Amino acid sequence: MGKIKVGFGFDVHQLKENHPFVLGGVKLEHYAGAYGHSDADVLLHAICDALLGAANLRDIGFHFSNKDDRWKGISSLILLQHVVALIKEKSFVIGNIDAMVCLEAPKINPHIPAMKTYIAEAAGISEEDISIKATTNEQMGFIGREEGVVAYAVCLIERE
Ligand SMILES: [Zn+2]
Repeated sequence: MGKIKVGFGFDVHQLKENHPFVLGGVKLEHYAGAYGHSDADVLLHAICDALLGAANLRDIGFHFSNKDDRWKGISSLILLQHVVALIKEKSFVIGNIDAMVCLEAPKINPHIPAMKTYIAEAAGISEEDISIKATTNEQMGFIGREEGVVAYAVCLIERE
């Protein structure tokens, strides 16, 4: 068995009214959406940071600067593909990903199967190796006030 590494990722984005809301590659119907330089997909950004961290490849801002117009409005599924290519260059394959989204509304449980399909395709892994969970913040703090959305992710990668 090859060397196994663990990675952790975190991301947060503001929610703004009348803004598109892309989460896990899925466009959610909602009165507000995540605001940021790319498509502001908080779940994919946390997953990218977990993968980069596991391979000791700095963080998402290091590879995809928010001052670089190449990444403006880009689908974060493309960023994920780039990240997977970077860890493959170091001879790593993904073992599994476990992620958590903290969001007051809308309910994302119905969308989780579609998110897993998108992520599996972009990362080139099985849906069985991707776990996505969701929680509210019990109406407390900036998440509870629907001012923002947070995601955490951990992953294992293994040297082939
Ligand atoms: Zn982000």
